[in-house]
Amino acid sequence: MSPIAPPRGTKDLLPDEAPAWRWLHETHASVAGRHGYELIDTPMFEATDLFARGVGSGTDVVEKEMYTFADRGGRSLTLRPEGTAPVLRAVLGARLEQRWRPVRVHYAMAMFRYDRPQAGRQRQFTQVGIECIGDRDPSYDAEVIEVAWRFMAQLRIDGISLQLNTLGDRDDRLRYREALSAYYTPLRDSLCDDCRRRLEVNPLRLLECTRDAQHVAGAPLLRDHLSGESRGYFADVVTHLDEAGIPYTHNQRLVRGLDYYAHTAFEFWHTSLAGAQNALGGGGRYDGLAEEIGFPATAGVGYALGVERLLIVAANQGVAPVAQPPAQLVVCTATAAGAKEARKIARHLRDRTTVIADLSARRLDKKLRDADRLGARLALLVGLDEGLVLRNLRTRAQQVVTADTVLDAVSAELLQAAQEGVP
Ligand code: AMP
Repeated sequence: MSPIAPPRGTKDLLPDEAPAWRWLHETHASVAGRHGYELIDTPMFEATDLFARGVGSGTDVVEKEMYTFADRGGRSLTLRPEGTAPVLRAVLGARLEQRWRPVRVHYAMAMFRYDRPQAGRQRQFTQVGIECIGDRDPSYDAEVIEVAWRFMAQLRIDGISLQLNTLGDRDDRLRYREALSAYYTPLRDSLCDDCRRRLEVNPLRLLECTRDAQHVAGAPLLRDHLSGESRGYFADVVTHLDEAGIPYTHNQRLVRGLDYYAHTAFEFWHTSLAGAQNALGGGGRYDGLAEEIGFPATAGVGYALGVERLLIVAANQGVAPVAQPPAQLVVCTATAAGAKEARKIARHLRDRTTVIADLSARRLDKKLRDADRLGARLALLVGLDEGLVLRNLRTRAQQVVTADTVLDAVSAELLQAAQEGVP
């Protein structure tokens, strides 16, 4: 029987990659936390309607990418493909916005999309994100962008560009949709299959097509259909970003083509990520979403960033931490008689440092070889005739210690290692 492989488009997190993974998550929680964002988590599956109505028909996510199944009770459920609709459902469902506004939350959650797997594109991936829910003001849009910007700066990732646009309000977009329909309808026969469907369902998404790029280049611009109020809102967001020292590119072609988006839309691009996968993440204002999923109208703005893509960029730039040995000290029994004493000493030493206990019946030279392979600096040998022996696995120097002096001897060795800059 051949060994069972992981499902296509999924990836295990192995211990070697764990330090970078943890570093990214801790940095995100810390930067978001400094801005007053609190942790939230939602179920991995939801009623299919949440996404069908929340993310919107006519989007690739809903049309082609959802993992939808019926449970044993006949309910239609979907594995979470994005975080905004579930987080909004959770916040409004718990009426958090009635305590104070806006509600600020951050998350790190697995997402599932039936996508064609390739570098930076998986079927299960992780996003970190924030949502600022319950109030509408340009300062919140700028704050959300600033949190993402500070987070990536803290990771020391270079070469990110902020692509910024405004989608105006609902009326602006209705006018714009008509202009797009008028422009694209005569071109219908030369459009790709996807675009022909988009023309019917959601003309804004025509602008995202890479196959019909020549048509996109000549398409009308939303800018020409914005109301004075929408222009003013965008100008205010930009003023706040300037004040925060965050550079941006005004990208008029950037649409997040869902009906509930309003005003600010943005993406973070990185040049090292090829082609369509060059976005590290994005977000925007979604003032119409709450109503789509059955709640009273509530304003909100947020972002989501792809963890796997951030880690690819961080590794390429050499800024992610690399794996360290799991322990600096291995306590090894030299004979079976030493096991009880070894356990006792290991417990004692764990007050000071991480200790792996090797109490197996293997030969001592094998235990020392494995301690060396895992990168430990010290081995404490228990059960030898001469007493406790502390061995430096790098220099091979040994010293006899006692139960009373072993803690100091270990501390001194580790201090010296730290001073030499040895991990
Ligand atoms: P979206 O919600 O589609 O705007 O995605 C936001 C970010 O999540 C993207 O810019 C990617 O970094 C990441 N992302 C989206 N889909 C995938 C995927 N299938 N695999 C890995 N990362 C993804």
